[in-house]
Amino acid sequence: MARTALITGASAGIGAAVAKRLSRRGYRLILLARREDRLQALRTECLELGAPEVQVAALDISDRKACEDFFKSTRELHVLINSAGLAAGTDPMDRAKLSDWEAMVETNVMGLLYITRLAVDSLKATRGHIVNLGSVAGHWTYPGGGVYCATKAAVRALSEGLRLDLMGTGVRITNIEPGMVETEFSVVRYGGDKGKADKVYSGMEPLTADDVAESIEWCLDRPARVNIQEMMIFPTDQAGVGFVNRRP
Ligand code: NAP
Repeated sequence: MARTALITGASAGIGAAVAKRLSRRGYRLILLARREDRLQALRTECLELGAPEVQVAALDISDRKACEDFFKSTRELHVLINSAGLAAGTDPMDRAKLSDWEAMVETNVMGLLYITRLAVDSLKATRGHIVNLGSVAGHWTYPGGGVYCATKAAVRALSEGLRLDLMGTGVRITNIEPGMVETEFSVVRYGGDKGKADKVYSGMEPLTADDVAESIEWCLDRPARVNIQEMMIFPTDQAGVGFVNRRP
């Protein structure tokens, strides 16, 4: 029987890349994000790639009531990919907008928690797998990234907490921690300024969304007795947070 994967943040970047990979593997998919037009286009692509069934829903994961309503009709899940997330702004903490902080905390932390809590009983029933998108930012803080880094440190601690509390259920929890990946991430961070976003990757070769998706697929494919707890993936051009090799 086909396995079912629910992917948040499926309308772009890493979430969309995972959706395509799991389609080729014959997973049934539930794809969530706020932009429904994107999800509809991805649905068509996933069906062509081999997914037997693709459900899409426009959902803001920071809206607790909307998440609860969505889960009233959700069925058996084998895999949960918590990819929805964002960085908003790079202002120093004494000048940053509270609305940017709210968006990051409410999505990266509370949204991930709502979805995970609502999905966990189904995942326990199938001895399923939760994959969280943490970040190297959860290990190292950089200037202008204090709150984003705090949310990713939270994702790391929450992944650990889930592993401890779900021990014995057979549910696996993996925290994927990428360095620089070229997606819409930086465009979102700079409020849609593509020029500023492009500068982030200038002269260096970042990871692609599919590089990360391939590693996620590999974690899912390990035997049930094997849980990859954390996986940190940097581009070769990035030695550490803030240490990037740029060619002129
Ligand atoms: P992306 O291309 O900007 O994709 C982010 C996804 O999250 C989009 O599908 C977006 O869809 C969704 N999203 C954002 N807020 C949401 C909300 N409130 N409710 C529902 N969906 C929401 O970025 P990405 O690089 O793929 O990022 C995926 C994850 O990887 C994030 O958690 C990010 O923090 C993490 N990460 C990224 C990098 C990087 O360098 N790119 C590095 C380390 C970790 P809608 O706008 O349609 O809602």
